[in-house]
Amino acid sequence: MNNINIEKFNYERPRDECGVFGVYGHPDAAAIVALGLHALQHRGQESAGIVSFDGNQFHAERHMGLVSEHFTKTKLLDRLIGPAAVGHVRYSTAGDTVLRNVQPLFADLAGGGFAIAHNGNLTNALSLRNELVKHGSIFQSTSDTETILQLVARSKRSDTLSRFIDALFQIEGAYALVVLTNKKLIGARDPLGIRPLVLGKLDGHYILASETCAFDIIGATFVREIDNGEIVIITEDGLKSVKPFPPLGSRPCIFEYIYFSRPDSIIGGLSVYECRKKFGAQLANESNISADVVVPIPDSGVPAAIGYAEQSNIPFEFGIIRNHYVGRTFIEPSDQIRNLGVKLKHNANALLVKGKRVILIDDSIVRGTTSVKIIQMIRDAGAKEVHMRISAPPIIHPDFYGIDTPNQNQLLAANHNLEKMCEYIGADSLAFLSIDGLYKAMGHKKGRDSRNPFYTDHCFTGDYPTQLRDQESKTNVRQLSLLSEPL
Ligand code: AMP
Repeated sequence: MNNINIEKFNYERPRDECGVFGVYGHPDAAAIVALGLHALQHRGQESAGIVSFDGNQFHAERHMGLVSEHFTKTKLLDRLIGPAAVGHVRYSTAGDTVLRNVQPLFADLAGGGFAIAHNGNLTNALSLRNELVKHGSIFQSTSDTETILQLVARSKRSDTLSRFIDALFQIEGAYALVVLTNKKLIGARDPLGIRPLVLGKLDGHYILASETCAFDIIGATFVREIDNGEIVIITEDGLKSVKPFPPLGSRPCIFEYIYFSRPDSIIGGLSVYECRKKFGAQLANESNISADVVVPIPDSGVPAAIGYAEQSNIPFEFGIIRNHYVGRTFIEPSDQIRNLGVKLKHNANALLVKGKRVILIDDSIVRGTTSVKIIQMIRDAGAKEVHMRISAPPIIHPDFYGIDTPNQNQLLAANHNLEKMCEYIGADSLAFLSIDGLYKAMGHKKGRDSRNPFYTDHCFTGDYPTQLRDQESKTNVRQLSLLSEPL
């Protein structure tokens, strides 16, 4: 008997936010991957892993915690020898936060070792997994990424690349993958290019990463984005590209621009920072109000607040200070201490808000928890009025592609109208950026084209760009999403 909860092991819904990185042919491959992962740490803080290949053997190190806690020269990097390596950072909120789910996953397959790191979520992983288990597959993790590994292992094709492509034809959803075999580094992006993946070069060697900020840290140059539906194969002979899927228009995830990516990254040719500033400026155009000061909720609200302040001519101030040293390991305060009002993460810069009419800017409201706490804090600091402005539309639909949003019944905007939301968070007024305003700020002059939307924006619109096979088999979420209108 073992003590694994079979029900949970089989049916946990994966909800990962992740970053991936890979390098081929560089003498310091693992150290470069560690630096790249460090720059991608915002995409996942729960676990980090690197697999390297030394021309003969694979070496793997997977750990719970931050990259900098484990991947130091004297500790692990000396063990990760070889000129090729892939790595992964992961943050998962649901279910098992255990070592067996830490990526890159690795298996010895018929053609040799195969390490895979995945950003995104598959939407048919559970259905495929159930079929695979019926036919004898033994799963070691609860991660949807293992489904890809199992499909590669079972493919009848002759070479590793064809087996990998065979597996990709069976999966649905979002994936940016980096794979390391004994001969190749492979990068792959799903047919819609939902999650980002970029190609760079360092000292003549190719690099793959989730975001361009990971190139800056190592002084690598940006070459290009991997296209939607593209697979790049990097070997000693250089880079080859294949596009095996029927061509589809790309639908990159708009939430990368709003919250997820680092502001110093460039995605789809657009600076994430500039986009956020423009969201703030557009928000000021749509719902300005007389006030004395514009205050961001740091860090995510900062660029939008700068844009809002510039556009509205209301002074910008850091009226809230964020403590950056609230790590995972910090003790959870007891209820008694919590009730005393300990502010672990944010504190009001009271002199800047006292007696003032404050416009607070954040990038999103999910459950509303942050807004409730911060608005109360600003009122306690003596603000005369508190007006909440959100630089994205209301989130009314859950994500199934690798952004952690809760079930629909926990999303504040899915269950309350604007007035009730304002009341709940305790603001004097509340406004969101419109969906057309969001697109306009990103250079789409006419706003969102509902017949041909440029981005994956289901969180706001309910327009899921792929089948949600696992969900449809359990609920009628798709039909529900079609019925509710954005605010
Ligand atoms: P909530 O407090 O549940 O309303 O969440 C909103 C806050 O969480 C905002 O300050 C956002 O910057 C941040 N946020 C938005 N999306 C995510 C996400 N997927 N993971 C973690 N934090 C998020």
